[in-house]
Amino acid sequence: MLDSRHFQAHAARLLAAEEGTLRKVAPLAVALCYPSPYHVGMSSLGFQTIYREIHAHPGATAERAFLPEDVPAFRASRTPLFTLESQTPVATFPVLAFSVAYELELTGLFDMLSLAGLPLLAAARTEAHPLVVAGGPLTFSNPTPLEPFVDVLIQGEGEELVHALLEAVQAFPRRDGLLSHLARTQGFRVPGRGGDALHVARAADARLPARSQILTPHTELRSMFLIEPERGCSRGCHYCVMRRTTNGGMRTVPVERVLALVPDAARRVGLVGAAVTDHPRIVELLRTLVDAGREVGVSSLRADRLSQELVDSLRRGGARTLTVASDGASQRMRDLVDRKHSEEQILRAARYAAQAGFERLKVYSMVGLPLEEDADVDELVRFTTELSRILPVALGVAPFVAKRHTPLDGSPFAGIRTVDSRLARLRGGLRGKAEVRPTSARWAWVEYMLAQCGPEAGLAALQAWRAGGSFADFRRAFAASGCTPFLAARVEDGRRHPTRWPVVAPPPPAPGARTGA
Ligand code: SF4
Repeated sequence: MLDSRHFQAHAARLLAAEEGTLRKVAPLAVALCYPSPYHVGMSSLGFQTIYREIHAHPGATAERAFLPEDVPAFRASRTPLFTLESQTPVATFPVLAFSVAYELELTGLFDMLSLAGLPLLAAARTEAHPLVVAGGPLTFSNPTPLEPFVDVLIQGEGEELVHALLEAVQAFPRRDGLLSHLARTQGFRVPGRGGDALHVARAADARLPARSQILTPHTELRSMFLIEPERGCSRGCHYCVMRRTTNGGMRTVPVERVLALVPDAARRVGLVGAAVTDHPRIVELLRTLVDAGREVGVSSLRADRLSQELVDSLRRGGARTLTVASDGASQRMRDLVDRKHSEEQILRAARYAAQAGFERLKVYSMVGLPLEEDADVDELVRFTTELSRILPVALGVAPFVAKRHTPLDGSPFAGIRTVDSRLARLRGGLRGKAEVRPTSARWAWVEYMLAQCGPEAGLAALQAWRAGGSFADFRRAFAASGCTPFLAARVEDGRRHPTRWPVVAPPPPAPGARTGA
């Protein structure tokens, strides 16, 4: 059995391999927590940005904590969850700040709180316990399942709100006064006390671009300096939380500023953002970085923005796989969700990639959209086969999960059986022609329940986690909890998009099965 020394030595090795770690002694210390393992958390630009912002705040400092790679072994060692920097138990910090990227990380938050020895429910904690705060990408859509477990939610972009939070913690020594103050402050939500659930904060342009603080070889993007040349997206895909209306559309950073912030020593640079290739000067930015001898990766390539020159630059920058998203299984589906891509644009991207010497094309698609039929999946088979004649294709397929505050908000989950049968149809049609990499329909349904339900879904997830965390545990817990996916906005959106999306009234509750699985 592994003991504490094993985990402490592992943390010390991770720390020793980092460049850019910040060290500051200050009266207010925050444990900045990521509810997934180190290699995931350290790839998050938002997490790194908040780490830097806390260090920049007068009188405050931050140390990081991550979900252990092997939670059962960590638990068995009876090691209290500790921070990476000083190996101090997380429970001794006055503030725990979690960055939550998506719904299924909720169980990581349960694991971290329990490994820290803290009560999971906010109502069971007292003034003697740390203040537990959560923010991150999940707060752009539906953070309400987090409500039973956190004292404060930070909604939206956190670069400025984190300073408002730290100032409030410094100003209000008593928890009651602090929570009342935050409930009245825009951008914060205090469960049980108020706050605007629909307000999503937007950081000032002067704070952009977000960029790496720490480089480490122990992430998927090995020692890559990440920088965000644009934030948000000006497009309007109906399923997407990053669409133009979420936070005012795309904001671009001048190329000169991006280049000035890339350290001379950074040999690998990742351009990160929701729609990086929509940056009006993306070709120039890429060319300049590659001409300086750096490897370059881009997080989001839009097929309609690619040119031979841009794809050549990516290849010269070391990329061997070109990744594009088609999203809808057929042109009919893409048109319905306003995903403005045609087959011809994706085929052209594949030809550019072949010409530039890429080895493989990775295409992301989605099944289970409303109104989808088997014929749409057959079209994806036909189209992927066509692409595979140009380059070997890996097809990533995710089941559609409706997110709050998008035009498709409230759309039902297609059903695990339907999704599985569409995936089987896809695999069968593409056997020997393309590699199909689907994500699990079962866990997509769990994500759907958490994306579309309220705090009761969070409590159901807690029951499931306590029971062992299998899919069957989640299905039982959701059925017992009475969670009902949100459908009211779907009706409203049907009115807003009457030609595209039919109005669907909430179905009557089915006896004994309220979950739609
Ligand atoms: S899916 Fe991509 S292109 Fe569409 S709105 Fe979202 S970020 Fe923009």
